[in-house]
Amino acid sequence: RLDAVATAHAAPMARAELRQALHNLGDLERWTNRAVQRIAQPRDLVGMRLALGRLPAIRALVQQWIDSPQSTAGSALQRIVRQLDACEDVYALLAAALADDPPAATGTLGIVRPGFAPELDDIAARAAHARQWVADLERVERERTGIKSLKVGYNKVFGYYIEVTHANQGLVPATYIRKQTLANAERYITPELKEYESLILNAEERLLDLETQIYRQVLEQVAAAAPRLLATAQALAELDVYLALAEVAALHRYVRPTIADDGRLEIIEGRHPVVEQTLADVRFVPNDARLDETERIVILTGPNMSGKSTFLRQVALIALMAQIGSFVPATSAHIGLIDRIFTRIGAQDEIHAGQSTFMVEMIETANILHHATARSLLILDEIGRGTSTYDGLAIAWAVVEYIHNHPRLRARTLFATHYHELTDLAQRLPHVVNWNVAVAEQGDDVVFLHKIVPGAADRSYGVHVARLAGMPQAVVQRAEEILADLERSGAAGPRRLAADPAEAMVVRQLTLFSLADPIIEALKAIDISTLTPLEAINQLYQLQQQARAR
Ligand code: ATP
Repeated sequence: RLDAVATAHAAPMARAELRQALHNLGDLERWTNRAVQRIAQPRDLVGMRLALGRLPAIRALVQQWIDSPQSTAGSALQRIVRQLDACEDVYALLAAALADDPPAATGTLGIVRPGFAPELDDIAARAAHARQWVADLERVERERTGIKSLKVGYNKVFGYYIEVTHANQGLVPATYIRKQTLANAERYITPELKEYESLILNAEERLLDLETQIYRQVLEQVAAAAPRLLATAQALAELDVYLALAEVAALHRYVRPTIADDGRLEIIEGRHPVVEQTLADVRFVPNDARLDETERIVILTGPNMSGKSTFLRQVALIALMAQIGSFVPATSAHIGLIDRIFTRIGAQDEIHAGQSTFMVEMIETANILHHATARSLLILDEIGRGTSTYDGLAIAWAVVEYIHNHPRLRARTLFATHYHELTDLAQRLPHVVNWNVAVAEQGDDVVFLHKIVPGAADRSYGVHVARLAGMPQAVVQRAEEILADLERSGAAGPRRLAADPAEAMVVRQLTLFSLADPIIEALKAIDISTLTPLEAINQLYQLQQQARAR
């Protein structure tokens, strides 16, 4: 497919002509399948007729492309030309049998083209003649009988009748048969009138029956040609894929990736195909990604809003695009074949399914760990964030170790996280590396550069993002104070934490609690020298209650 897309990419003129020729062609496969199931409606067959009518021109264009002197058209296009069967017999049948603009559904007259079925035309002609005969009857009989007030009418009980007032009874011909007497007139029929009447009344039913029968036969014949029609639909679909992928490649400056049977993944100046289209007035910052046997697992840290998720998705999308045979948004890409892309991204709530966000996260992660192989690409976005910091960190840490060490796994992995502690894994595990998203600080201001660089991030700038999001000033200020306090009191924490996560968690937990514990503050404030024994016992009781409530 990549060869075919490259061919279409290299031939802008042929591509434009063919895209134009395929424009609005409709869904031949669907129409065919509906014919096979005998549920195709006249409009489906009209669509098919239009599409088949355009096929010879499409086929000629592909052939012309293959034959052109500078053509690089490869085997895929030659196969398409062979497979593109214009099914002239089906086209001829549909052209002859179906009216130009038949009703949308069966059950309404007018589906079959006049001239296709003599019997149908004959009935239609006789019905038309009968209607005309009845329409003329009043005039003809007035002239014949000389009765000026003679009327021809119709009612549901008697059908067509001739009405003559009592005053003119003497002029009524002997051939009239009396049917009904009214206050001042008599109603008659004649055998001829009844004959035409039954012609008119039965014609519609018979026409419908016949049309339905003919339509069914047409469907039978179309269905019999289904294998050829479906092969043609398949060829058209393939052609459409090549042209469309080549078109977006040309429009958005994609390049042809190299696909190799190795464990390397190297994207130079990759872009996210969707995000780059949606950025209005800023330029998308391209990023490289290199993963191989030695540097297999990337721990990606970086501030909120810096572009971690975008980068993860972009790598996965580029790998996917390459493997479906598309060009990719990058300046070059080498994709070592990937058997599956596993992603653990975002928090899709499954409350309706009785599962919490965190449970879904864990189920998906478990699935990845059970099924990924060394050939897989793993995209893990903030695993563990759905629970308490320490549980989350512990799980994330263990997941990375497992991917790194398990003989079946060792998959190429991108792991975005806000747990900076995880960056210490790079020192402990040989195939783990740290990348982070660069940030520039200008005074109080933070500028997200969206550039992925080697190494670990040191801050999250979460408070900064909170300010950007329009949090009340008081909240932002208070958060800054608390953050400064935490950083000061926990200064020894994170480093020790990296040495041994479990122990370090306890350390940090203690520093967190010691920050401004109301019980300790209350204890400190008690002036024992002025307390009576009863008051002391009371206060002790209250403190104990508080502690227990915690
Ligand atoms: P968080 O940690 O808060 O989930 P994040 O680091 O995952 O954030 P993203 O959601 O990937 O950040 O990106 C935030 C926004 O930054 C995107 O919506 C996009 O507008 C912009 N952005 C991301 N990557 C780039 C890039 N390479 N070039 C330009 N803009 C980018």
